[in-house]
Amino acid sequence: MSGGFTERNPATERYPAAKGKSTEHNPFAKKWRKGLRGVALVYPNRYVGGISNLGLQYIYSKINSLPGFICERFYTDVFGGLRSLETATPLEKFEFAFFSLQYEEDVFNIYEILKKSDFRGLKVAGGPCIMENPLPYAKLFDLMFVGEAENYIDRILMENLRDLKESELGESELGPFFIPEVMAEEGRWMIRRVKSDLRDYLKTEIIAEGAYGRALLLEIGRGCKRNCRFCLVKRVYSPVRWRRKELLLEIAEKNKEIVEKVALIAPSPSDHPEFKEILFELKEMGYAISPSSLRADKLDEETLDILVESGLRSLTIAPEAGSERMRKVVDKGITEDDVLNAAKLAAERSMEKIKLYFMIGLPGEKWEDLEAIIDISKKVQDFVRRVEVSVNPLVPKPHTPFQFLSFGGKLEFKREDINELKEKVRFLRRKVRSESKYFEFKPPAIEEFAVQTVISRGGEEVFELIKAGRKNAFRNIFSLGLEKYLDAMGARAVLLDRSENLPWQIIDHGYNPKRLEKEFKRAIELAELEI
Ligand code: SF4
Repeated sequence: MSGGFTERNPATERYPAAKGKSTEHNPFAKKWRKGLRGVALVYPNRYVGGISNLGLQYIYSKINSLPGFICERFYTDVFGGLRSLETATPLEKFEFAFFSLQYEEDVFNIYEILKKSDFRGLKVAGGPCIMENPLPYAKLFDLMFVGEAENYIDRILMENLRDLKESELGESELGPFFIPEVMAEEGRWMIRRVKSDLRDYLKTEIIAEGAYGRALLLEIGRGCKRNCRFCLVKRVYSPVRWRRKELLLEIAEKNKEIVEKVALIAPSPSDHPEFKEILFELKEMGYAISPSSLRADKLDEETLDILVESGLRSLTIAPEAGSERMRKVVDKGITEDDVLNAAKLAAERSMEKIKLYFMIGLPGEKWEDLEAIIDISKKVQDFVRRVEVSVNPLVPKPHTPFQFLSFGGKLEFKREDINELKEKVRFLRRKVRSESKYFEFKPPAIEEFAVQTVISRGGEEVFELIKAGRKNAFRNIFSLGLEKYLDAMGARAVLLDRSENLPWQIIDHGYNPKRLEKEFKRAIELAELEI
């Protein structure tokens, strides 16, 4: 940091999210003084999403607790991501920039921020997109971190790049660092994702208006015991780890004077072995409770009573598919009875709205499977007045059994598959509209999901797509010859028992690749697809 920051936020009027800081309760903020080394923590999207990410809060608090460093936050709706929220200090005044890549498309924002600023420091990236496949970002960052960073932050700040790589190699031959420069010199590398034992936790945190409203974020666990075949979270956050009820309640107790609501964070919170007891105790403390999601098959009268008493007004359920056949293909483990039972319980407690999440573009999908989405939504509407139907196309993600599929759910990608997906969306929209005025439906932008698929599965040349910008990204997939990443990745080889190396297999997430192949074959069998 070369000094020279301003306490005033002259652009606050133009960037209303910057005002967020005046309503924040922030126990971690630090004041600049001479000699401190600046770390910019960049969330390449809106404040409301960034502030709801507990991992980022942890990194922020950790850096600000280190004697020689100061950390400030950047969001795209605060000074366009070019100045910090805390002191409006320009990005280029910082020595390090840590980027969190939660969604593939956010990389376009990162590219823009870096283009517009004159940042010359060390560019570090982490987050689920880096854990799934760092290759498309190799030309953008100096270092990518694969895993849960809790125990590595000080080392990243204090060691130089080559030492980081070498010290890891000395220990285990595999480390969590993807360092493009070192890798280019020394050829391909294997990376091992690292995980935390969840021993570290935040006793206090920033309380602000985030995705759950003004709430305490309570991370009750990481990882998931389920095996949904489309799910990246399952693989990149395994194994499942839960925090003890006593610890969670202690954190809640400490914070209850400053906040009235608590959000329970985990990939599948209702799988916590003491979920109901935790809910009950939090309600007794007077908290309004908002779980990040709820499984329909885990809902019973008692659970819903507690949630309704503590302020829950609507229910979100993700059956993922309309027909039983498709639900077996994705292996979500939720039946129509589970969904309707949840709707009935919600109606009995006067809930007015249920939101249903579905996917299309699944392997072996037929028009009757789409009809089934409408059928089950109608049955839910027999219980509650308003039903919001959310439908997105499957993004066949790396490290999942569906990684072998093409975008559109086939074993081979054809340009017409995009039109077919769009036709499916039009079909669903028509049906939803003709059924009831209380059905809500937001059509997905199929092109955006195609771009997401290419970025998540691509190699280093995907950087050209990123450079060309978000605006014509879908068209650029084809002009840059990147449609191969929309195609099935190795499906035929797997089905013919010839194993195939996929680009992201440079990352060891601790699963056996043969298991994914087996699961994929099972899904193809259930989908009645032929090679
Ligand atoms: S979709 Fe949800 S329940 Fe299924 S594996 Fe992923 S996190 Fe678990």
